[in-house]
Amino acid sequence: MELGRGAVDGGVLCDAHCHWGGDGGGDGGGGGVPRVVMATGPRDMALVAGGHWRYGLGVHPWEAHTVYCGAAGPQSKREHYERVLQPQGAEAGAEVLPQGVIDELPDPAPLRLLLPLSLDSGSGSTSSGPVCVGEVGLDRARRLHLHNHTYRVDIAHQTAVLEHCLLYARTHSLPVSLHVVRCQQLAWECCTRVLQGSNVRVMLHSYSGSLQFLQTHWTVSFPGEQLYVSVGPGVSRRLDYTRVPRSSLLVETDLFLDPSREETIAEADASLAETIQWLASQLGEDPSLLSRTIRNNYNTFYNIV
Ligand SMILES: [Zn+2]
Repeated sequence: MELGRGAVDGGVLCDAHCHWGGDGGGDGGGGGVPRVVMATGPRDMALVAGGHWRYGLGVHPWEAHTVYCGAAGPQSKREHYERVLQPQGAEAGAEVLPQGVIDELPDPAPLRLLLPLSLDSGSGSTSSGPVCVGEVGLDRARRLHLHNHTYRVDIAHQTAVLEHCLLYARTHSLPVSLHVVRCQQLAWECCTRVLQGSNVRVMLHSYSGSLQFLQTHWTVSFPGEQLYVSVGPGVSRRLDYTRVPRSSLLVETDLFLDPSREETIAEADASLAETIQWLASQLGEDPSLLSRTIRNNYNTFYNIV
């Protein structure tokens, strides 16, 4: 879509990372701007995969507690959640979850069925398959508030879920959209362990780590056109992008879009144009030219020919 009315005159927009916020209605066209809609877990995977848009499949770290890894399921719902949820505050160390908390949670879903690791069960090579694995990652800051209690999700469990998602990416040769909060080292180790030596591309979505860690870890393990940094309105603006290769830059809204409500599409497009403007002024570049560079990067990252 030509920007036209905006100050990014003659440029093009694209949204490398957004979400589904509708009720299943709408045609998923999203106003003509190319977008990739990320899944967050068992709750929205089928909805996201059923839209008329490019999409990612994965389990967001905020939803990691709702799945289990491995072939053998948990003995019970209670056994699963007592293993993966860690009580915080006054109840830290408590071993038994209140029944009200258990009742509020969904039955844990088998990750190996949601994201099969065998090549014959769903592949990125078909036109209707996912174009990436996302949103996946690790988050040490997130707290779950359930039935007046506060929990965090065991980081070892989050890591096991991420590792499975990355194996799925490697098996199906799909790029990865990665969310990392307060555990850059652990996420980098996990990605390096599973993905190094493959051709899987990694996008650091809303990157909140330091420039130094980016340069000494991420771009070393994932050199050349394997590592991308996606810029949005939030925390990712702390980084100095003059030190990041132009060919690694993407832009995103991270908004929950409802294609049946035009105002959410307009809001998303305005957000993308504003991010391009911000980035262009930081880099001292022409916004229209920059928007075209970023569209090319988007096409390369997502394998769009
Ligand atoms: Zn997101």
